[in-house]
Amino acid sequence: MSLDQFFATRISRMIASEIRELLKLLDQPDVISFAGGIPDPAMFPAAAFRDAMTRALSDGQQAQSLQYSTSEGYPPLRRWIADHMRGLGIDCDEDNIQITSGSQQALDYLGKLFLSPCDTALVGWPTYLGALGAFNAYEPEFDRLDPNGNRSANDFRAQAEAKGGRVKFAYLSPDFANPTGVTLTRTERENILQLAEDLDCAVIEDAAYQSLRYEGEPVPPILALEYARKGDIEACRTIYCGSFSKTLSPGLRVGWVCAARSVIDRLVLLKQAGDLHTPTLNQVAIAEVAANGFDDHIAALCRHYSHRRDRMLAALERHMPPGVSWTRPEGGMFVWLTLPKGMDGADLLQHALKTERVAFVPGAAFYADGSGRNSMRLNFSSPDPMQIEEGITRLGRVLRDCSTG
Ligand code: PMP
Repeated sequence: MSLDQFFATRISRMIASEIRELLKLLDQPDVISFAGGIPDPAMFPAAAFRDAMTRALSDGQQAQSLQYSTSEGYPPLRRWIADHMRGLGIDCDEDNIQITSGSQQALDYLGKLFLSPCDTALVGWPTYLGALGAFNAYEPEFDRLDPNGNRSANDFRAQAEAKGGRVKFAYLSPDFANPTGVTLTRTERENILQLAEDLDCAVIEDAAYQSLRYEGEPVPPILALEYARKGDIEACRTIYCGSFSKTLSPGLRVGWVCAARSVIDRLVLLKQAGDLHTPTLNQVAIAEVAANGFDDHIAALCRHYSHRRDRMLAALERHMPPGVSWTRPEGGMFVWLTLPKGMDGADLLQHALKTERVAFVPGAAFYADGSGRNSMRLNFSSPDPMQIEEGITRLGRVLRDCSTG
């Protein structure tokens, strides 16, 4: 008996990637993996969460913490986030904040909110794999977002119309992007905003890694640049997606959207229909832990990860053969390698696992059209400095092996 014939057409676009299946096999102790994208669990503020949870479950608090709550989110948490957003240069209040179950849920809801089948989403080439997955369920076309402003709005519009829809939004992660680690300059951000103005579409700003800056001056969020132009968040087309996953805990699944009220009002309806609300206890705990020492915790995280990034960059310098280049991220969790043309990241992964027990994510997974085969993503937040050193040494051997023959 198979129910496959009854599945909706959109499901045919949601296929498990071969790479993901392969990466599931990595939990073997002798494999050094740069394939993950997760925080170092040693840095979780576990004691603070233990205290916060205990308080949230004590007499007098438990009736609230274990109860249903509003779809918009726990008010003290929304207020803390509004304050955090004001610190980033965006004058907003709690009515501009929707709590989501991780920023991944925000991407799903924004896909649902904007995309009819055949509409176009502009995304980076490469971009965050999870965004492609979330948007794909709504049967869009993807076109290549270019922060340098080399393609005109008319060109994008014509392409989208030829596909039977229109451009609904540009999606990007401007700080320490997943997978490239690249940060957009202020000018590039202004270019994206201008393109969105010309196309009259939304901008989805994915700020998952924004707090994790290890060097250099912060660049204002796209929403802050737009706010500076317009002076009123209600007039802004940028929708900012934040997350506590990379800073406090990914397992608690708490993220947020900051946007004009007209967008938030719709997201509340989607949230009601989707999962009613993000778990109350998790929101209460995050609100308390965030309110007590968030900045100190971020500073400690940045010291911890910047050391790992430095180790990875230094090891790459020593061990990569000629013809391989890589990004030098100012924050986040990833370095992106570009290999000589003709090399294939997926083939290399098979070879690397077999011969040297080292793993990474082949780059093609991050391209909407499956191109970019001569690239790979390396994560430096999970492996410790010794593993980074040893793993990059092994990767260097694999690449030298493959370049020579
Ligand atoms: N955006 C980006 C760029 C990410 O890398 C991730 C997680 N890997 C997410 C969003 C989703 O994170 P979460 O749902 O845990 O907030």
